[in-house]
Amino acid sequence: MKTAIIAGIVAAAAAVGVAAVLAGMGPDQMDGQMMADEMADGGMMADEMAGGITVAASFLPIYEFATAVGGNTVSVSQLVPPGAEPHDWEPTVRQVQELQEADIIAINGIHFEEWLGDLDAYGGALVDTSAPVEVMHEDPHIWLVPTNAALQAREIAMALAEIDPGNADEYMSNADIFTAEMDALDADIRAGLEGCGTEFVTAHGAFSYFAEEYGLVQHAIIAGGDPHGEASPHDIGDAAAHAAETGYILAESPSRLVDATAAEAGAEVLILDPLETSEGPYEDVMRRNLGVLQQALCTQ
Ligand SMILES: [Zn+2]
Repeated sequence: MKTAIIAGIVAAAAAVGVAAVLAGMGPDQMDGQMMADEMADGGMMADEMAGGITVAASFLPIYEFATAVGGNTVSVSQLVPPGAEPHDWEPTVRQVQELQEADIIAINGIHFEEWLGDLDAYGGALVDTSAPVEVMHEDPHIWLVPTNAALQAREIAMALAEIDPGNADEYMSNADIFTAEMDALDADIRAGLEGCGTEFVTAHGAFSYFAEEYGLVQHAIIAGGDPHGEASPHDIGDAAAHAAETGYILAESPSRLVDATAAEAGAEVLILDPLETSEGPYEDVMRRNLGVLQQALCTQ
């Protein structure tokens, strides 16, 4: 029975996208089916009877925010695994099942998780962590500002408190602790970049919010938000000119485009991690990023 359902999901997901499949099958129908299977093999039912809340988080930062506020009470899974590229991810069959079973699906939002398809299909379980954040230009990279990260984590905490009121105080106090950590990180970034240069060159434009928040100017080789997007000759030329001035390109990873632009500009490539394919943890990566920005901006 399970095999038949999964085969059906694979075929249909390939044809029309995951959310349409979920909507098409009807969540109740699918739940009932899987519940019956689970009771038969004694799988997930044990967890559900123990009252364990499950959160499916889209990618690393969201996973960390959910873990921070959920503490030991909540079981969090990460859909896009470390090393994979979240901009154009495709969920596996097992993950479609995980999404269907999760109490909460936590996403970044702002069209970052296009691979989830029609978000309305997930109903009340969906938590769009961008809701409390001020969004600019439909750019999804809000998580790279620690005070945004705190808001995103709190959004998940509020959703947990709503479905699990017995532990609401714990979720909200975890959110307070995380917010204090993010405020301290924010203060360190602010202090660490004080009096330094302001112009920096990136590969794809992941650091627009960061730049705006800390009074910097980002010049991206690939101006659009997607690392696999097209780079226009104009943008490459502009980035190369700024790289020649600043001496650095701050890229998520070396690539032919980055290396060629760096060679043309006589610039050095340093790694500035947008926490997309990285293994984290969030705070360590952000502190490493601060060190890289200091090397690029504060030593002239
Ligand atoms: Zn990105």
